[in-house]
Amino acid sequence: MSLTCDVAIVGGGLAGASLAVALAPLGYDIKVIEAVAYKASEQPSYDDRTLALSHSSCRILSGIGLWEKLEADATAIRKIYITELARPGRVVLDSVEMGLAAFGHVVEARRFGAAVTQLLQETVNIGLISPASVSDITIGDTKTVLSLESSRGTDELEARLVVAADGANSFIRRHLQIPTHSRDYGQTAVICNITPEKPHKGQAFECLTNTGPFAVLPHTGNRCGLVWSVASEKAAEILDLDDATFLSCVEKRFGNQLGAFTKAGKRTAYPLKLVRAKEDIRERLVLLGNAAHAIHPIGAQGFNLALRDAAVLAEVLADDDQHDPGESGLLHTYSQWRQQDQRGTIATSDGMTRLFSHPSLLAAGLRTTGLIAHALLPSLRRRSAIKAMGYRGRVPRLALGEPLA
Ligand SMILES: Cc1cc2nc3c(=O)[nH]c(=O)nc-3n(C[C@H](O)[C@H](O)[C@H](O)COP(=O)(O)OP(=O)(O)OC[C@H]3O[C@@H](n4cnc5c(N)ncnc54)[C@H](O)[C@@H]3O)c2cc1C
Repeated sequence: MSLTCDVAIVGGGLAGASLAVALAPLGYDIKVIEAVAYKASEQPSYDDRTLALSHSSCRILSGIGLWEKLEADATAIRKIYITELARPGRVVLDSVEMGLAAFGHVVEARRFGAAVTQLLQETVNIGLISPASVSDITIGDTKTVLSLESSRGTDELEARLVVAADGANSFIRRHLQIPTHSRDYGQTAVICNITPEKPHKGQAFECLTNTGPFAVLPHTGNRCGLVWSVASEKAAEILDLDDATFLSCVEKRFGNQLGAFTKAGKRTAYPLKLVRAKEDIRERLVLLGNAAHAIHPIGAQGFNLALRDAAVLAEVLADDDQHDPGESGLLHTYSQWRQQDQRGTIATSDGMTRLFSHPSLLAAGLRTTGLIAHALLPSLRRRSAIKAMGYRGRVPRLALGEPLA
């Protein structure tokens, strides 16, 4: 069968599905092609991960109609404590000090998946083609042709713009031989929901170690989302511990700040790598989300960055009166606009990961100085918090809380 559309989004994970919802009000005929059925337990994007959504991300989600579906299951982050394992200095970021109700919110990726998939299915100009995989792509001057494999066999889909949101190992990026810059950190994040004895009161804790962050995020039902980054060769050992031993290891590292931990959920491991595509656009093609830049979760910025990319792409297309979403001038405008935020966010996450894993005395000195400077200087804390909340460079209308069009 041969299908046509204006915008084909390959990958209906966190980034691709959010973009589809953001573009829908512009009236385009949008198709989302997703390889794994949403409800399947192996759906890679919508798993048990707790996502820290920044202040600007919550505004974007509100502007595209997703926040109202998530809010009841979201937990506000009111205070953030940042420390370095076994070193002096502690930075406390307090949303009250910044005149905000919260720095952002924590939402389970699986819950996000349920909400966004419902919206995709309810929106008349979005067609969700799933399970189906893209197996070929041919780029032309006026359209791009995708081959889709599903239980029905092979279909062709013609689109004026293709967005590759097919993850860090993007088929489209590899097929088009778009080069990447990558770095294997030799670290693996073990994630798990844990229940503390005392109320978490919206507090988030990030302890930076030489094998990555040990982060405890506030979550619904007085649970906490744990992200424990360890040397990759240690990950299997941590996954194999029985719950009681695992919780006692967590307490040993975290201390008694929230009392004892009484319950642990399922543990999952994610090997951590930086993968950045050296081109984010080609003729009638945009790379989005992990396909464009998969980053270390040290500052919880990966999806937040992708959402800002989606908000900018939607704004550039909203302001165009030609109504050709794949027009090359528009894609260049999008790409140039995103450079500053992408470079800054990626450099911060990569730089912090490397600085904290560096064994030298000089690196240790820099880390301590940085933490103490942030602890003592409210203006420095404020500047860093504003960037972490997603306000870096030119900010799209949706992130300012303004309507898209
Ligand atoms: C431990 C950990 C914690 C994190 N915490 C945070 C956080 O707190 N805050 C934050 O902002 N970010 C966080 N991130 C980052 C966040 O998870 C990613 O940014 C996000 O998952 C990227 O989404 P994506 O849609 O680009 O890619 P993916 O989630 O990989 O989704 C890609 C989708 O494409 C589909 N697909 C692949 N190939 C094809 C094909 N050929 N045809 C059709 N479909 C295809 C896949 O099935 C999948 O559904 C974290 C990451 C990790 C590892």
